Amino acid sequence: MSAKKLLVLPGDGIGPEVMRQVVRIMTWLDRRRNIRFEITEDLVGGASLTVHNTPIRDEVITRARESDAVLFGSVGDPKWNHIGFDKRPELAILRLRQDLGLFANLRPAKVFDALVDASTLKPDVVRGLDIMIVRESVGGIYFGAPRGIETLPDGTKRGINTEVYTTAEIERVARTAFELARKRNNTVCSVEKCNVMESGLLWKEVITALHASDYSDVTLTHMLADNCAMQLVRAPRQFDVIVTGNLFGDILSDLASMLTGSLGMLPSATLGSRNEAGHMPALYEPIHGSAPDIAGQDIANPIAQILSFAMLLRYSFNMQAEADMIETATSAVLASGLRTADIMSPGMARVGTSVMGEAIVRELDKLQG
Ligand code: NAD
Repeated sequence: MSAKKLLVLPGDGIGPEVMRQVVRIMTWLDRRRNIRFEITEDLVGGASLTVHNTPIRDEVITRARESDAVLFGSVGDPKWNHIGFDKRPELAILRLRQDLGLFANLRPAKVFDALVDASTLKPDVVRGLDIMIVRESVGGIYFGAPRGIETLPDGTKRGINTEVYTTAEIERVARTAFELARKRNNTVCSVEKCNVMESGLLWKEVITALHASDYSDVTLTHMLADNCAMQLVRAPRQFDVIVTGNLFGDILSDLASMLTGSLGMLPSATLGSRNEAGHMPALYEPIHGSAPDIAGQDIANPIAQILSFAMLLRYSFNMQAEADMIETATSAVLASGLRTADIMSPGMARVGTSVMGEAIVRELDKLQG
């Protein structure tokens, strides 16, 4: 099998230590399943600032463009809190998203059976939950013009932001959602506020037309964003893939992820458009930050980073079997009672970052037989 080009950017804080657990899994895939990765590793965030005086170098962006996928850790280091926003470590991820044209943010919310009690909702409501929120991430009200704060003739002020979406912007994120649904339970729920917003009306029209022309095999439903927020806490298992704009997606994806319990468990992906040669720019990262409060102590939960790698295998390389194996192995380790500090509960065995990583590799060995 030909080598797959991966750019690995561990970043700051707990980034490098959780990324080391993914490297164990890459080594295992090479050894036991003959899957090779051509890995390039580089500095981003505070780590890059220290050495190169910039949160991300142009050559790292170029390498990201040339790679099949980017696996990102996390950036942010309190050491750099005093410097201007134009140089902050967090700029590394913003630039990667912009320069690679990553417009679809995928946030799964999946509840592992062993952690069903970690949710604030009743176990009966969240058991077996497995939904995916696809959020348009480079358009909508966060980027629309006009924007600003203006002073009115009477001296009071007016703040302005503009929700704006074009047909092309809606179509490309909807395509991502429909394609994803085909690899899952084949159902998409499109979420907007077409009852009060013209941009929502257009959103619904464009998705309905695209569905009819290209994706009529997928079941499509529509829901107003306020109802969707309510349904996500009332009966979240009714959803498979939800597709929505930037603002509603921001709120609904945070809401959905917390149905599952812990920040240390949650992966994400941001995808761009597939070109004619079949290449799709893609970046995978845990949703948590660099957690400077626990960095370097071997206590961080590596599962969000490991599950981000499973998403990379699934969506960039179509390696469904390997992605399933990693998720099953993680589930088995949790069922065996091992817990990092963030998901610890009475009667379970507390372990550190590297022991959790080793345990997942041992389970992979068992699954491989
Ligand atoms: P954070 O996600 O880093 O941490 C929030 C809390 O969750 C902390 O108590 C932390 O210890 C805990 N936590 C996070 N991940 C964990 C894990 N894997 N295992 C166990 N516990 C975990 O958020 P924050 O403290 O608000 O931000 C810290 C830094 O990270 C800031 O500089 C921020 O800008 C940056 N940040 C970066 C990203 C990114 O790289 N995409 C995302 C969010 C925050």
